[in-house]
Amino acid sequence: MTHQIQVHDKKFVPYLNTEQLNEQITRIASEINRDYVDKKPLFIVILNGAFMFASDLFKKLDIEAEICFIKLASYKGVKSTGKVITAIGLDAELYDRDVIIVEDIVDTGKTLSQFLPQLSHHHPKSLKIAALLHKPEALQYDIKIDYLGFVIPNKFVLGYGLDYDGLGRNIDCIYQLIE
Ligand code: 5GP
Repeated sequence: MTHQIQVHDKKFVPYLNTEQLNEQITRIASEINRDYVDKKPLFIVILNGAFMFASDLFKKLDIEAEICFIKLASYKGVKSTGKVITAIGLDAELYDRDVIIVEDIVDTGKTLSQFLPQLSHHHPKSLKIAALLHKPEALQYDIKIDYLGFVIPNKFVLGYGLDYDGLGRNIDCIYQLIE
């Protein structure tokens, strides 16, 4: 894993290999296995980017658990000038459930800071966040990540589910942009 790749107009170098990803995902899974015995948590996976992380994480769970997948769409509200985020495909009953949100990367934290209050309206018993990657230097909102794979610098990454303009999601490890 030493080669540079080009996706569209940009060049990327290897950053996290499959062994590193597997090691941290195994650790997160064992923490969740420990914390959620007899709780039958509901995982809500935010598409598209988190699909590969969610799949590998879910396979490593040995507790009873459910999983569902949503997309977040942002549109311009009629009255507000800011963008409003809404969940598409959220048909699971969240009331009194132990919910774990699965996200690929928390960057500014804006997406989750808008989405989490919407979920709280459903009155889950608990609401936690599992994220593969986090860029603390970019964080602008108060988001607490409960299960985190890697803290990374504020540089664009792709691979392992994350894309650059539609491409790169199928790469089995994480690459970082050469600036
Ligand atoms: P936030 O709302 O936390 O700023 O952004 C979260 C979303 O932005 C992520 O779910 C992801 O889709 C996208 N994102 C943020 N940083 C990166 C990055 O370095 N690479 C890719 N491919 N997507 C990113």
